[in-house]
Order: sequence, then C-alpha cells, then structure tokens
Amino acid sequence: MIVMNTAQVNQDVLSRFSRLAGQHRLAHAYLLVGPRDSGKTQTALALAQLVNCESPEAKPCGQCPPCRKIASGNHPDVHILGSDDTQTIKIEEVRHLLGRVALMAFEAKQKVFILRNIETMTTDAANAFLKTLEEPAPNTLMVLTTSLPEANLDTIKSRCHIVKFFPSPVNRVAHVLAEEGLKDADARFLALYAEGCLGQARKLRDQEIFRQRRKILDEMLLNRYNDTFLKELVTDRQATAQALQLLLSFFRDVLLLKNGTPASELLNQDFLKEVEKFAGRSSEDLGQIVGQIVETKRQVDENLNVKMSLSLLREHLWVN
Ligand SMILES: [Zn+2]
Repeated sequence: MIVMNTAQVNQDVLSRFSRLAGQHRLAHAYLLVGPRDSGKTQTALALAQLVNCESPEAKPCGQCPPCRKIASGNHPDVHILGSDDTQTIKIEEVRHLLGRVALMAFEAKQKVFILRNIETMTTDAANAFLKTLEEPAPNTLMVLTTSLPEANLDTIKSRCHIVKFFPSPVNRVAHVLAEEGLKDADARFLALYAEGCLGQARKLRDQEIFRQRRKILDEMLLNRYNDTFLKELVTDRQATAQALQLLLSFFRDVLLLKNGTPASELLNQDFLKEVEKFAGRSSEDLGQIVGQIVETKRQVDENLNVKMSLSLLREHLWVN
C-alpha cells in the first residue's frame, strides 16, 4: 500500500492532466518517464484522484471520499503494481491485475491501474499486459512509470502517451549530496540554501557550513549576540554575509510557518522551537527584522561598515 505525499506530486504535470481532463481529452494509458524519486508514482496517484474526484470545483480536491481513499491507499478501484526496488513484475501478477481490469468498478468513475517501474516486467508479463493496452477497457486508466525508458519495451511505449518528468534542481542536488554521504535533512537544507546549485552546495559543505550555522544561530538567536561576538563577526566580511544569509533562511521558515506551512516542510528543523517563537511575533515586527537583514546584507556587499546595522538588527530581534 502506498500513501500519498502531495509534496512529491509534480504540479506541472498534474496541471497538464487537469487541463486535458477538463477538455475530456485524457488518453487511456500514460507512461511517466523520469529519474528515481522524481514523483512519478505520487503524480500517478494525484491523476487517479483527478479522474475520480467528486468536487464540483478544482480537482483533485483532496477532501472528498474518493480523494481521501486514494490518498490513504484504500480505494478499491485504484491498484498499484510493482515496487521501488529491482524486484521484477511477474506474469502471475499481471494476470491477477488483468482479472481486475475485466471486473466492474466497485465505486470509481474510473478504475486506475498504476504499474511502477515497468522495466522490471518479465517478457511474459509485458506480452500479457500488451493486450490490455491494445484493447483498452472502458473507464479504465493505465499509468505506467519507468526510470529506464531505454529498456527494451518499445511495444508498450508505442501504445502509451509518454510524459517526461524532470526533477527540480533542488531535489536533484539534495539527492547527489545524500549519495555523497550527507544526512538527508542536511542534504535538503544545503540544496535549498544553495538554491539548487551543486557546485555552491559542495563548496559550502567543504567550508563546514553546518558547524558555522549552528554557531551563528546559537549566538544570534539564543544568546542574543553580545558585543564581543559582534566585533569578531564584522572583521570577516564573508562570515558576516553568510551569517545574514543563514538568518534569512531562518526567517523564511518563520514566515512560512506563520502562513500555515507544516513544520515538517521547514528547513531549520533543529531550531523549530525558535522558529515557532518568532512566528508568534506580529507580521510588522517580522517585516522589520527581514528588512533589516536585507539592508545589512546590501551594506556588506557594498563593503560598508555594518556594525551599526547589526546592532540595530539585534534591537529588532529582541524588542522586549
Ligand atoms: Zn476530490
């Protein structure tokens, strides 16, 4: 059973499907092609919601009974075959699935079959499946996925509409960093912080950004940075610029949380308590803080002395 995670749905692809559905032009079979972890299965589930959603307005609504059943992996007419790993899809499984294709839907407007990583199908299985693609059953949508489009499945490919997925630069960079040994949370932080630029992310990692970040946030947010820290900081322009950038990333989280983004999606997971505390401040206060950080950053870029600005920032941070 696969539970939905809407954060992984490729919204560009989903809106394309949505437009097609609005014009009653959805095909009966799609092949989603893209690298591992680019959101193919999650987008397939969102498509299953889209064609079964009962909302009269924007679909998928995520709230109606079919949307919810699909999200929790409990819809009787939405079937998923295939796994994440290299386990092959065997002919018995395809036969079982074909049996279900032949059945009437229990409650869905459209039955949806999601076949993941079809490159793992055995030849027998692929041949058995091919017939269904050639003679589509009514009210049935097939969504296939693969990360290896070059695998020898031409007959299947030629019977599907192909939709290509591109991972976002941030996800791709996070993935590479994790493979190079960073913890997942750190990799995600760094990828976002470096705005999806792998070279920049690697450089920051090698400069021990995590140790520095901890120190900066501890000093500036927990210890209410004292004059000694401030004096030391302003002697190094690069360190000052980085401290301000780290603060901006922290306040980005504060503003996101204030606007209802779930805490689990924030970057500064290890400072959540502080993020929550600042999110309790008024929007006006936060606007002043962010404005002051941005202004100080501009001064650093212009090589000005920023000691005054940093003191002012401290006053904004700690009004009471
Ligand atoms: Zn719905």
